[in-house]
Amino acid sequence: MGKFTNKTALVTGSSRGIGRATALRLAREGALVAVHYATGEEAAAKTVADIEAAGGKAFAVRSEFGVPGDIDTLFEALENGLKERTGATTLDILVNNAAIMGGVPPEEVTPELFDRLFAINAKAPFFIVQRALGLLADGGRIINISSGLTKFANPQEVAYAMTKGAVEQIALHFARHLGARGITVNSVAPGITDNGSPVFDIPEAVEQMSQMSAFGQVGKPADIGDVVAFLASDDARWITGSFIDATGGTLLG
Ligand code: NDP
Repeated sequence: MGKFTNKTALVTGSSRGIGRATALRLAREGALVAVHYATGEEAAAKTVADIEAAGGKAFAVRSEFGVPGDIDTLFEALENGLKERTGATTLDILVNNAAIMGGVPPEEVTPELFDRLFAINAKAPFFIVQRALGLLADGGRIINISSGLTKFANPQEVAYAMTKGAVEQIALHFARHLGARGITVNSVAPGITDNGSPVFDIPEAVEQMSQMSAFGQVGKPADIGDVVAFLASDDARWITGSFIDATGGTLLG
């Protein structure tokens, strides 16, 4: 029996990066995982195939956040997938991981980019949590992926960091709202984590990024997936409304 046997999980943005590692970890311990993606159909199919090859259970769900009907599309696919496999639509673990970054100086943030960042990174997680309330089991788990950038300055990402500040509020207020049901709500803040994007193929860039962590390394997606899995487990039942610094010591300065 794994820690998550007979549990169900939705991990948004699990076609790649941190979401993928989280999905793999939850599935390895028995969870049936809904692997959400927006455009990376092949990558999502690979996450599902890798989970199945390791003896786990998963299915892919597609929804592009930030467009009309995004939440309806997500929940239609999620509920159908769960019902098909379990006969019910109960969700035990929700991980709001999908997000985009800004990557432009403050002077170049347009209203359109600002709105897009908030739509995908903050509005979607809020309405996903709201919609999930009817599916979540008592004793369930909500984990929102924030960023060390809510506490560490990077002017290139001011608008992105604002979205993550907003996401952290979900933990505070929903933790109080859902406590009576034994549902915990927490934020996990990664530091720089190798998500496979091209910058991680440049040794000089990696060397520079590594210096930010107390361990002298960039994080691996599994470093975050393991923290999420802990929060999703029964061992973390007494932690709610928390900000978990998973930056590898970057915030130590
Ligand atoms: P990636 O960029 O590797 O993956 C992003 C995921 O989000 C993909 O699965 C992607 O799906 C999905 N996604 C992107 N846009 C949309 C959209 N419009 N609608 C729905 N899904 C979308 O992310 P990381 O692994 O790097 O980051 C994961 C989380 O960790 C994010 O919340 C990020 O902000 C946070 N974080 C990451 C850090 C890092 O250094 N990597 C540092 C601090 C925080 P698809 O590929 O199908 O489009």
